[in-house]
Amino acid sequence: MDTIVAIASPPGVGAVSLIRLSGREAHALMRQATGKVLPEVRRASLRRIYDGEGLVLDEGVVTTFEGPRSFTGEDVVEFTGHGGVAVTGAVLGRFVELGARPAGPGEFSERAFLNGRMDLTQAEAIMDLIGAQTRLALRSASEQLQGRLGQRCEEIRAALLGTTAHLEAYIDFPEEDIDPEVGAALTEQLRTQKGEMEMLLATADQGRLIREGVRTVIYGEPNVGKSSLLNRLLGYRRAIVNEQEGTTRDVIEEVISLRGIPLRLIDTAGVREAGDGIEKEGIDLTHDQVERADLILHVRDLTRKGRKELPLPKDVPVLPIFNKVDLVGEAEGPAEGVVLSALTGENFEVLEEEILKILSLDEGSWGQQSVAVNARHQACLQRSVSGLNAALRSLEDGEGPELVAVSLHEALNAIGDISGTVDTEEILGEIFGSFCIGK
Ligand code: GDP
Repeated sequence: MDTIVAIASPPGVGAVSLIRLSGREAHALMRQATGKVLPEVRRASLRRIYDGEGLVLDEGVVTTFEGPRSFTGEDVVEFTGHGGVAVTGAVLGRFVELGARPAGPGEFSERAFLNGRMDLTQAEAIMDLIGAQTRLALRSASEQLQGRLGQRCEEIRAALLGTTAHLEAYIDFPEEDIDPEVGAALTEQLRTQKGEMEMLLATADQGRLIREGVRTVIYGEPNVGKSSLLNRLLGYRRAIVNEQEGTTRDVIEEVISLRGIPLRLIDTAGVREAGDGIEKEGIDLTHDQVERADLILHVRDLTRKGRKELPLPKDVPVLPIFNKVDLVGEAEGPAEGVVLSALTGENFEVLEEEILKILSLDEGSWGQQSVAVNARHQACLQRSVSGLNAALRSLEDGEGPELVAVSLHEALNAIGDISGTVDTEEILGEIFGSFCIGK
């Protein structure tokens, strides 16, 4: 593998920056750039980086790691220097001049995977960890980084491999049909393995909500207090609050952490049939958002009654909210929903409770399970389950062992794709392409 180099810290100005090299020549290039011997492995030491004319580019700390005991599994060296745009650019440029190649997105992690330092679920967890915006998202990512999901999948795969091997013993004797007793035992095993996969599949919804946030659409007629509700939830002013109807023209989106659950709050334009061109566009956007929501906060104004409203989608949970309770005094509470005031903040505690209840998401129940699959894992598991279903059907129909084995191999490959145990060339680009440079 050639030697790659990247600025691993975010672009811009900071106290320090990190430049990372990995590959066969990594150590040699650092020796050349510093003009000195490297510090002992895993010991930090002060060094200067010189340009081709012997001028000092930067001074900082060099740390070396020796493959295979490094992040990438190759020889790695890191330089922690000053965090300026020009200085990091110059140091990076120096290493490129000496022969290193600028790394592509995720290339360090890809090498770590290829060198067996981690499985694919762990590599993905790195991105989840970096992108986590709430405590729960962070916890889920770090569980995955520890390899919990990869282990679960490997256990299922190992069991399935055992079943397949058992079955394949028959294939060596072409005349032989599967003994009914053995067939029953195989069916039993496959059902168990399918059950395990379905349990993992059931975590997909939670996984998405934790990773991407709950798409929470604030919905209702103009002037009922949608923007005020959003602002109150955000804890600061973000949306424009205006007494004139129809002022929220765009969709406004902000993420908050509701007791560890990321809530993607989406304020929508007022729902009103008529309106000028721009407002109509806003209304179209609203419908788009409502269709894609995980949760709808349907806001009504307690001081106004009986205005026409557009229908809500049936398969999205809706929490009715009755706003402006401060204006009506002791309101007679409707049977369902939350009576509150976006102006005074009254009953916002209840609102939070109700949101968590309606989503059946809370930190307690989340703590029970340590893994949640992402969309890619979900697709692999679904493929694996359909392989198992086909195998079960073949067994039931008394088909030959070869046919059953073909379906089982499909199931095995699909579950193997999750951690990258089997041939994964084509999925690598997709995963590591979404990483940041230097990771
Ligand atoms: P939107 O059009 O639904 O986004 O409504 P806004 O948030 O812009 O609010 C419309 C008007 O109602 C503004 O004058 C707000 O100050 C007022 N308002 C919003 N919530 C409350 C509330 O709980 N109590 C009172 N008294 N006024 C509110």
